[in-house]
Amino acid sequence: MTENEALKRMKMCIGISPSENIVNSFKMISDALEELQQYRELGTIEEILKVFNNQRTIIAAQHETLEQYRKIGTIEEFKALKEKSTPMKPIPNISPEEGKVVCWTCPSCKKKYWNGYYFPPLTFDKVCTNCLQAIDWD
Ligand SMILES: [Zn+2]
Repeated sequence: MTENEALKRMKMCIGISPSENIVNSFKMISDALEELQQYRELGTIEEILKVFNNQRTIIAAQHETLEQYRKIGTIEEFKALKEKSTPMKPIPNISPEEGKVVCWTCPSCKKKYWNGYYFPPLTFDKVCTNCLQAIDWD
């Protein structure tokens, strides 16, 4: 007997013998069967578990990635780091007496780099040693 046949037969029994206990019992069974049918329309237990486990795996992976980001720093720290990694031109400081560049200033933290008249300064790194701002000496 299929579930639909059982449901049909129960409805017939209710029509023949409509006692309150039987009606209530059949209603519970009928509701359970209809709920079961709705689940089955969505897939087998194995199929639903597979989807559920896939989703759980994806969520766990996203959570792990988020935790890895958080271990490194906050969103604000990442934004600041990204801005610092975009090279900026150093600001030349020209001596009014000599009319020449006498030092360079970090565009982020304003630290001054003194290194004679060479451009780019011979011993300077590609980043500011004070604030890690990437410097474009080209
Ligand atoms: Zn700096």
